[in-house]
Amino acid sequence: MTFSELGLRAELLRAVEDQGYTVPTPIQRQAIPAVLAGGDLLASAQTGTGKTAGFTLPLLQRLAGGGARPGARQVRALVLTPTRELAAQVGESVADYGRHLKMRSHVIFGGVGQQPQVDAIRPGLDVLIATPGRLLDLHQQKHVDLSKVEILVLDEADRMLDMGFIHDIKKVLRALPAKRQNLLFSATFSDEIQQLAGKLLDKPAMIEVARRNTTAELVDQAIYRVDREKKRDLLAHLITEHRWHQVLVFTRTKHGANRLAEQLSKQDIPAMAIHGNKSQSARTKALAAFKTGDLQVLVATDIAARGLDISELPHVVNFELPNVAEDYVHRIGRTGRAGSEGQAVSLVCVDEHGLLRGIERLIKRDLVKRIEPGFEPDPNAKPEPIENGRGGRGGRNGRSTDQARRGNGGNAARGGGQRNDGNRSGDEAHAPRRRRSRGQGSRQA
Ligand code: AMP
Repeated sequence: MTFSELGLRAELLRAVEDQGYTVPTPIQRQAIPAVLAGGDLLASAQTGTGKTAGFTLPLLQRLAGGGARPGARQVRALVLTPTRELAAQVGESVADYGRHLKMRSHVIFGGVGQQPQVDAIRPGLDVLIATPGRLLDLHQQKHVDLSKVEILVLDEADRMLDMGFIHDIKKVLRALPAKRQNLLFSATFSDEIQQLAGKLLDKPAMIEVARRNTTAELVDQAIYRVDREKKRDLLAHLITEHRWHQVLVFTRTKHGANRLAEQLSKQDIPAMAIHGNKSQSARTKALAAFKTGDLQVLVATDIAARGLDISELPHVVNFELPNVAEDYVHRIGRTGRAGSEGQAVSLVCVDEHGLLRGIERLIKRDLVKRIEPGFEPDPNAKPEPIENGRGGRGGRNGRSTDQARRGNGGNAARGGGQRNDGNRSGDEAHAPRRRRSRGQGSRQA
């Protein structure tokens, strides 16, 4: 398939050609016609899938195809992003793909002077790319008029919620006209995202694309069955015994990350924790030390790790299995170097058997289970509810909140408890409808 077969106009095809792209990526193949058709869209896709062009190209086409020029301070399409970096990146894409169209676009975010942003918005914009906080500041001061927005894009919506932007997003939504096209992009689908999608989207087209390099075949995956209390010792043992020199370890909670890093350090295994309570500079410092090899172990929560550029690691350890089965795929996608296999090890205690089954269903294979001599699990151990930090929802078998989840997503959310039938066997996989296969509880920063 080519870009021209997707129904894009000549100016956009030229811009795509200028970028050197010839074949649309899976998300582009699905998202472009869906957005051109004018309906709402719910897309599961991460950075690296080509999602930005997936919404930018059809968005520009729709703007170019109809409607008047924006009036003073008015905006025709609004793209909200969680971070400045992403806003800047999307802004560049809009400028690149819109270069042969007469489109005015601008990027705004906090932490820099607002006057140049006010000046840029004053004549009106076709596309405004913004982080929520600065947008609201400017809106409150009446420097921007959102009442004529035709298309709204929430990019990396899950990250926006993780970063606490839900109230800001709701305020922005209140400033928008009721009739508009909504596009929501998210890497994962927490309960909060499903709730937001349920409220925001009207009969959305649904698209799911797995990240590149997350195919399980590239990664050697092993499960060590072990008792809850022996996980730390087993981890220290594996690291020392196998001389793992660069290990990314995932924990479920911030508190757990701290405790584990401290414990490993005490056992002469240099380790640091990164999570939502650490400052950006502390995270950057830990990451730099980890990358240079000065730091042997980096302990992270899913959310902290998501914002960081860490990939192609030799070893990833799931100290605890994630609550959301898809996060397992994202976690192990961090490992594997070009040409050589990576190794993903999960330490699984009796509490986590339900989560493990959910993961095996999602990736459509049974994982090899091992028992390390000296760390044999107690066959009579009883499962306990899983500690989850925030909210503390826990259950044993991954079903405790499925019922609730099923009820709250409207059209946008497919309830839990269903199998994920997405075809994940290829380099990139996609399925027409997103389905969830999850463990219990909400995710943690
Ligand atoms: P994104 O997922 O939007 O962050 O895009 C990931 C990268 O893929 C960016 O560097 C894009 O420039 C690039 N890209 C987007 N679409 C295509 C395509 N059709 N062919 C090749 N590269 C692409």
